[in-house]
Amino acid sequence: MASFLYLDHNATAPIRPEVREAMLPYLAEQFGNPSSVHRLGQRARAAVEAAREQVARLVGAAEPQEIVFTSCGSESDVLAIEGVLYEAWRRSSGTRRHWITSSIEHEVVLEVARLLNPRGFEVTFLPVDGQGLVDAQTVRKALRPETALVSVMHANNEVGTLQPIREIAAICRQNGVLFHTDAVQSAGKVPISAQAWGVDLLSISGHKLNAPKGIGALYVRRGIVLSPLVCGKQEKNRRGGTENVASAVGLGVACELAVSGLTAHAARTLEFRNRLEQGVLESVPGTLLCAGAAPRLPNTSCFLFESVDGNALVIALDLEGLCASSGPACSAGVGGSSHVLKAMGFAPSAAKGALRISTGWGNTEQELEKALEVVPACVARLREAVRA
Ligand code: PLP
Repeated sequence: MASFLYLDHNATAPIRPEVREAMLPYLAEQFGNPSSVHRLGQRARAAVEAAREQVARLVGAAEPQEIVFTSCGSESDVLAIEGVLYEAWRRSSGTRRHWITSSIEHEVVLEVARLLNPRGFEVTFLPVDGQGLVDAQTVRKALRPETALVSVMHANNEVGTLQPIREIAAICRQNGVLFHTDAVQSAGKVPISAQAWGVDLLSISGHKLNAPKGIGALYVRRGIVLSPLVCGKQEKNRRGGTENVASAVGLGVACELAVSGLTAHAARTLEFRNRLEQGVLESVPGTLLCAGAAPRLPNTSCFLFESVDGNALVIALDLEGLCASSGPACSAGVGGSSHVLKAMGFAPSAAKGALRISTGWGNTEQELEKALEVVPACVARLREAVRA
């Protein structure tokens, strides 16, 4: 067992040895630029295209050319949203400038909305219920003649709720509106399929599925034209810049491993999750499990502990060698101000006691047992300190 217990896989996940091994040649002797005509360039090009095929299989694309490599999940989201909106605006001579998203999207999507607003792009935020679920019919009601895009995440990073993506995609298709889903947290954890769902754009990120940080991908259904964020000829004019060959190779291998091991991995993480949740709920009074009744990621548990500060709990757990979080890593330390828990109807005082535990590749039975000892003990200690 490692000297620490890592239960924060939704923040980032360790790189699998097979991924690292596959990358190494492209950080050493195979350093070619995929656009070069000579042999080193050809080898790099072949590696990138093989990775594109592997990514296409994981996301259920019809063809590898529907995959655009990006630098991260955030870039994939921004390219999907701004890329579609700017193109729709251009083609409609400025009239199609409305889009729809949910109130529990990742921070990057909310930030894009804030930036686009003064540029004349209007956004409708869909509400969620107490389980963090979007009602697909609210999408239908929010559509307008000038709506160009709907973007709703598949899995939420804080509470793990899985949205009715197929249903939303069907509504968008019927109404001639493009649909993007952020599958950053679900890719590699549950089956995803752009084609089967009927989505037009889908984001993933390397470091959430045991590939390195600094690589992501966007599925763009054939025929969709995006206004690029970075100009250049690479990635068929959709994302300029010399390809990150080694990381693309790593992402490809991670996707392949995820495809082949998905069923077993999902079953194992679900068993862990259920045992962990049952154990914590039984041994810690005053605990609420967020989104407990919703379809949910098999690896994610978000507990709200009454009379406990989530940030203090994360520190107490860290001192015991257990890494978890009180919210998304990108806004760590914000405690009770989670926009996701707020949208689900939790008061800031309740949301303040949030602890997110997210398991993943490499976690063992013994680690689960340790978590079941350490979490209740730390909660009890913090509550005692408050009472004293
Ligand atoms: N979307 C979701 C749902 C996420 O959880 C994250 C990261 O936490 C992102 C997007 C951004 O991904 P990246 O860290 O690769 O930019």
